[in-house]
Amino acid sequence: MNIHEYQAKGVLREFGLPVSRGVAIFKPEEAAAAADALGGPVWVVKSQIHAGGRGKGTFKGAPAGAKGGVRVTKSKDEVVQFASEMLGATLVTVQTGEAGKQVNRLYIEEGASIAAEFYLSMLVDRATGQVAFVVSTEGGMDIEQVAHDTPEKIITFSVDPATGIMPHHGRAVAKALGLSGAQAKEAGELTEKLYRAFTAKDMSMLEINPLVLTGDGHLKCLDAKISFDSNALYRHPDIVALRDETEEDAKEIEASKYDLAYIALDGTIGCMVNGAGLAMATLDIIKLYGEEPANFLDVGGGASEEKVTAAFKIITADPQVKGILVNIFGGIMKCDVIARGVIAAVKAVGLEVPLVVRLEGTNVEEGKEIIRSSGLNVIPADDLDDAAQKIVAAVKGA
Ligand code: GDP
Ligand code: MN
Repeated sequence: MNIHEYQAKGVLREFGLPVSRGVAIFKPEEAAAAADALGGPVWVVKSQIHAGGRGKGTFKGAPAGAKGGVRVTKSKDEVVQFASEMLGATLVTVQTGEAGKQVNRLYIEEGASIAAEFYLSMLVDRATGQVAFVVSTEGGMDIEQVAHDTPEKIITFSVDPATGIMPHHGRAVAKALGLSGAQAKEAGELTEKLYRAFTAKDMSMLEINPLVLTGDGHLKCLDAKISFDSNALYRHPDIVALRDETEEDAKEIEASKYDLAYIALDGTIGCMVNGAGLAMATLDIIKLYGEEPANFLDVGGGASEEKVTAAFKIITADPQVKGILVNIFGGIMKCDVIARGVIAAVKAVGLEVPLVVRLEGTNVEEGKEIIRSSGLNVIPADDLDDAAQKIVAAVKGA
């Protein structure tokens, strides 16, 4: 799960990390009061969307050369003007794609003076099973570009969970950023607090770009992006409360209510599968036969009829779906439960596209009989290969 920059800064503030004072607003009328509360003399008006590259982004329909999604100003009138220009407008950045994202929230911050811009991020490194730090003096720009052009300017190390964060990690960050004296000490404290925040809140990624050295010589997190491990959200109700559903795929939100592992994709064949491995194999074989899957969906091992019905409804609600493939290997999951769920869902929402069902495993005969006697126009399949060919043919024929 991702959150907005201003929310991420709120989390960092909780852990004593240095961030600017700011006020989040939702309506242009709130801009003047926010500017007054901060006092100036410099303000930064920042579009809040779940995508980076806002500073260099452009608003749809704005004249060429118009300012981007992050604007620094010394005028309170401009704070108000920028707020009315940005709120409701669609911001296109390198990360949003062509369609862009509508800006529904702004963060108005006190402006910081910048002496140097650095890059710092943390992530769970799956190869080592440890939290890794990525640090570079090349802040404020595209880190992928830095990694490509000047990889020697990126320093990485990981923290052994057995020892946790140690003073030498802080010294490694200070050295990577070329800091000494009091600033190196500050880098050490920052490193320790970041690690504590990261682990305490079960983050999977934390990126500060830029981390700056201010004009008066202190470190400050000027931007913050945080992703949380969805599997750990149950123990962080405070984080769940920060969720902005308007930034997420509506189908994925609906699926999460039923605890379904669902990911929307761009293709035309809706898939209902049990088991992540079988789901991946199903996506692969659909591609092998020349079509694209509309989603990844793992209904799980012990899905109820209600859950299967919900899953089927989510798939059919997608206007891109031109055909549906149900591929179930019943182990713990029973084929008759799946069959009943599919029938219930079809009766509730109707079926306007071809449906191929491949059932195998526990209670398979019962499941097949339920589908046969339902009178529904279902194309039965015997195995994965057969099922994939049949749904691809049905979609191509349609
Ligand atoms: P991003 O473009 O989405 O990554 O948004 P950022 O929060 O990183 O802001 C983009 C750029 O705006 C930063 O790299 C800074 O150069 C600039 N910026 C952001 N906040 C301030 C500030 O308080 N003072 C100054 N002078 N520049 C800022
Ligand atoms: Mn940034």
